[in-house]
Amino acid sequence: MTPDEAVAVCRQAEVRLVRFLYCDNGGIVRAKAAHVERLADRMRTGIGLTVAMQAMNSLDQLQPVEGMGPVGEVRLVPDPSTLRVLPYAPHSAAMLVDHVRLDGEPYEAGPRSFLQRMDAALRERGMVLRCSVENEFSLATHTDEGFAPIDDSLCFSTVGMTASQEVTDAIVAALEAQSIQLEQYYAELGHGQQELSVVPLPVLEAADTQILVRETIRAVASSFGLVASLAPKPWPDQAGNGAHVHFSVWDPSAERNLFHDGARRYALSETAERFAAGILAHTPALLALTAPSFNSFRRLLPQHWSSAFVCWGPDNREATVRVPSTFWGLEEPSTNLEFKPSDASCNPYIAFAGLIAAGLDGIARGLGLPEPMLVDPATLTDAERDRAGAARYPETLGAALDALERDEVLTGAMGELLTASYVAVRRSEFEAYGAMDEAEQYRGHFAKY
Ligand code: GLU
Ligand code: MG
Repeated sequence: MTPDEAVAVCRQAEVRLVRFLYCDNGGIVRAKAAHVERLADRMRTGIGLTVAMQAMNSLDQLQPVEGMGPVGEVRLVPDPSTLRVLPYAPHSAAMLVDHVRLDGEPYEAGPRSFLQRMDAALRERGMVLRCSVENEFSLATHTDEGFAPIDDSLCFSTVGMTASQEVTDAIVAALEAQSIQLEQYYAELGHGQQELSVVPLPVLEAADTQILVRETIRAVASSFGLVASLAPKPWPDQAGNGAHVHFSVWDPSAERNLFHDGARRYALSETAERFAAGILAHTPALLALTAPSFNSFRRLLPQHWSSAFVCWGPDNREATVRVPSTFWGLEEPSTNLEFKPSDASCNPYIAFAGLIAAGLDGIARGLGLPEPMLVDPATLTDAERDRAGAARYPETLGAALDALERDEVLTGAMGELLTASYVAVRRSEFEAYGAMDEAEQYRGHFAKY
């Protein structure tokens, strides 16, 4: 879509403001908006943004990162193919943007260009990643103490479906209006907890879509006077909110699922096994990209169906990588892997790029998988888990960041500036939340994600 065509679409829909959306190192979705009269120009030139924003944490505390102070700016340049008229905001539209340097080159700390680089690295090997996200979220009302779940319904219960049917219908309608294709919906285990999953998409589109989905869920809920929280652990006594990532690797024409080989164990090709082995090899560090908030580590506990030990297994919902059983008659297209320790406090561009970097490393080194985990790993003794190679995850964001800083594959893929700013932001959040009492820690995450 050219800038003029985008303007025409916006005019037709009587749009006044077009949000230029991005997700920062703290996983916060932020935006600046252009007026429709200036849109064609701003699409060509971008909107200016201070370089400091990639050093801003999710408490709006600016971190000291070299090159990210009060002097200097980058441009937010929209990708016209992502244009959506927003059904939940009056006379508004949105596009996802790239961070671009003033000389026109991609900004080294730009999350979307990190994913584009990893996508290109995979394509160089004749592969494209397709992924989809299962977003779990909690619907709540404001109370004097904070937030209370809208129901106390049971897992997959129709009572829970009924309790939220109006707001769910409105969310689904808003996603349809943005051409976002859903897979499934249900009322999940936790009080007020829901799950909406999106169909698999090429990785960049999947990350863009994840931002649009997060925006839509929160905004539509808010129009009902509710708060939708995608925070990893909304309440201490309730199930966590995962954002499990299902993924598979295809040939560039998307005709052949390169993860599928009907002649092998669980119909997983050698490529799939190597990719998964790479992910397992980097899991401790990957957590700092995929489950990267202080609150994330309250979710990643044994026997909470979120995974807590590094392992993989067929239909094992306590494994880092689950091999979901395929659908009858759709064995090839439905062969995929599910990465469990991921949540919506991540920056999806950075998280998906990290998964590719880890998977590519597994392929490059020809890594093999250990024996599959066929039981709940928490029911094994320490010695049995050691023999299976199923190490407990880092138990705090701080420990995951330590693992990330030691991981040369992931930091090498991210590059110096993105690594420095990302680690500074996330570590400052670990420290800031660590100094708060527990109630403040929960409240601090609830309405941000
Ligand atoms: N709510 C669980 C989590 O935190 C996942 C439950 C499930 O979908 O299996 O990841
Ligand atoms: Mg679920």
